[in-house]
Amino acid sequence: MTDDIPYDKSFGLPAVTVEQVMPGVRRILCNNPGPFTFKGTVSYIVGEGRVAIIDPGPVDEPHIAALLDAVRGETVTHIVITHTHRDHSPAAARIKTATGAPTFAEGPHRAARPLFVGEAPRQESGGDREFHPDTVLADGDMISGDGWTLEAVATPGHTANHMAYALKEANVLFSGDHVMAWSTPVVAPPDGAMSDYMASLEKLARRPEPIYFPGHGGAVRDAPRFVQQYIHHRRGREQSILHRLAKGESDIPTLVRAIYIGLDPRLIKAAGLSVFAHLEDLTTRGVVATEGAPSIEGRYRLAGG
Ligand SMILES: [Zn+2]
Repeated sequence: MTDDIPYDKSFGLPAVTVEQVMPGVRRILCNNPGPFTFKGTVSYIVGEGRVAIIDPGPVDEPHIAALLDAVRGETVTHIVITHTHRDHSPAAARIKTATGAPTFAEGPHRAARPLFVGEAPRQESGGDREFHPDTVLADGDMISGDGWTLEAVATPGHTANHMAYALKEANVLFSGDHVMAWSTPVVAPPDGAMSDYMASLEKLARRPEPIYFPGHGGAVRDAPRFVQQYIHHRRGREQSILHRLAKGESDIPTLVRAIYIGLDPRLIKAAGLSVFAHLEDLTTRGVVATEGAPSIEGRYRLAGG
């Protein structure tokens, strides 16, 4: 299947180097590159003098030192988390100890739905189960500091507790892993849910911010249009799955081979989870049928077929 999203994979920021991306917003790249993290996690510092840190990242000593170095002589008043994956939230505890700043997030890590009988939580999903925010945020909550205001924008899907944050003074959005310029994120049940993810994309498509700063890679430009392309891309993938199932009952490995041509072998498992997320959504909507609860090992067919 052709990729219809105009990805921007240019991102030249060296690790552990502070860069001012716009007035009142600095970023630092952690040196944790990988197939899911791209060049690494990007942490943001919002404000000047009295600042918020968004996503301090993993427990990576050079990165933590670089973050603390960047705010030397300033006061960190808020530590803000987009979601509890291990490449985003674990360093919050260290930054809190060093600065005394409280943590803010939608909530602790949780699955998007109850586990089915016999279904184990996915250990490899990278959930940070240690993190518990000092202050729990709901959609639309505002947190503010010296010259900055962040609006919490609930964007579940990649994880159940994913929050984006709109910087009101600059009309930009910190989009975490929900929308990124270099790739689409993994949406993997039970931590993630495709129905939530699509609803969160529709929600962002209606927002005004033209520029997003994601948790990995460079800024998303012309963001509302890019979000539409994301939506289009996922609908296209759903169509590919349905097209394949119209030829007969199938399982997830077969669907992955049919749909993802030339896939990086390191991403096969993630692609399977992504297809699973679509099938779970399609089953809930009554479009696709399977035996019992949808599972990664299950066989799927068109409902009524
Ligand atoms: Zn993530």
